[in-house]
Amino acid sequence: YLVDMKKVLLIDDSRTILTSLQTEILAICMDIEILLATSYTEANQLIRRNKDTILAAVVDLHLPDCEVGQAAQLTNAHSIPTIILTESEDKELKSLLLKKDVLDYVSKTNYESIKYAASFIKKIVRNSETIALVVDDSKVSRVLFEEALKMLHIKVLLAEDGQEALDIMESTDEKISLILTDYNMPNLNGIELTSKLRETYSRDTLAIIALSASDDVSVLADFIKAGANDFLQKPHKFEELNVRINSNLDLLDLFQKTKDLANKDYLTGSYNRRYFFEASEAILVKNTRKEQAVAVATLDIDNFKMVNDTHGHDIGDVAIQEIAKILKQSLRVSDLSARFGGEEYCILLEDISIEDTKTLFEKVRLGFEENEIVIEDLVLKYTVSLGVAYGMSNDINQLIKVSDEALYEAKDTGRNKVVIHTF
Ligand code: GH3
Ligand code: MG
Ligand code: MG
Repeated sequence: YLVDMKKVLLIDDSRTILTSLQTEILAICMDIEILLATSYTEANQLIRRNKDTILAAVVDLHLPDCEVGQAAQLTNAHSIPTIILTESEDKELKSLLLKKDVLDYVSKTNYESIKYAASFIKKIVRNSETIALVVDDSKVSRVLFEEALKMLHIKVLLAEDGQEALDIMESTDEKISLILTDYNMPNLNGIELTSKLRETYSRDTLAIIALSASDDVSVLADFIKAGANDFLQKPHKFEELNVRINSNLDLLDLFQKTKDLANKDYLTGSYNRRYFFEASEAILVKNTRKEQAVAVATLDIDNFKMVNDTHGHDIGDVAIQEIAKILKQSLRVSDLSARFGGEEYCILLEDISIEDTKTLFEKVRLGFEENEIVIEDLVLKYTVSLGVAYGMSNDINQLIKVSDEALYEAKDTGRNKVVIHTF
């Protein structure tokens, strides 16, 4: 799972600075791998080794083994969005800042600016995961918006009118979370497009920013009534669009955070029991309609009490956190899994045969058996048992009950095994 992790490179010859930057970034960014370099040479090696996977860099202007600003030139040459760390007002800074991938500079003399750099990194990471759709019948406008979005490191799709935008939304597998739309367009105008989109996508998962050159105020009002999140009068300054885009994406993040607080478990970041029940409903309804079987598995760590008793509760917590990581390696992103309590997880799979169910959970079981968790001097190993219910049902309680019985049998007959009950 480390392979496709997002990476951020930090270059500074002071370990203290590197550590505080790392701490601040990890405190606000999920699933980020931090690469640390204390010299130009190390940075160069890391960039080569992690080709094209580094999302952003924070770079010291002065390093012992290179010219002033040379490390920033290096990250810039690899098109890595870069923030410069500086101790003073440097003359070289101005010319570096003109380069396209140097985004900002911060003074490392105060801790607030370390925090600022971290929040900047978070924004770049967030934006690089964001896909926007630009809808405008004017080629000139499309190009301008595309450039503005690319400057913010947001991926862009283009549509020439409202109808094409709808077609893209329906056919794409990508998760589009931002739409910039014009008002006057052939086939389907921006307001009609907004209304149509709101039948499927809510304001807290898809931000629609409307742009119009019309000085008729009713256009603004109609856009907002149709469900647009924001409105901008054309022509506008680049910075103005920039700020609106970022603040709308910030709001989407905030909505997501609120939902996560209700749906996710604090220790592991996995979904909680309540969310599992809620989300399973639609899946079961759909599969019952299609007369398709589903699989529900209950996973439980074997002899977990011993882990706690031998190594303490904190190590026990690490062992529990490991479950989500191992599951991630075997499950599809669309598969539903949740922490049910303690050291127990529940998993719901659809569109899967009984043979593939067996293969998959056997792979999960083996994944735990072969896994070693290294915590300082300690190498922790544990196994899990899985009880699986396979069959057609629209009753999640029944499915869980059957999987629990299968789990009980697995525990009773030796542990570290998968038992499947079909019905
Ligand atoms: P079995 O193989 O039969 O599953 O035995 P077990 O010891 O794993 O099962 P049991 O259910 O008896 O013990 C589960 C233990 O999990 C008991 C409890 O102290 C511990 N536990 C529950 N929640 C947490 C948690 O959040 N963190 C830690 N560290 N331990 C927890
Ligand atoms: Mg230095
Ligand atoms: Mg257990």
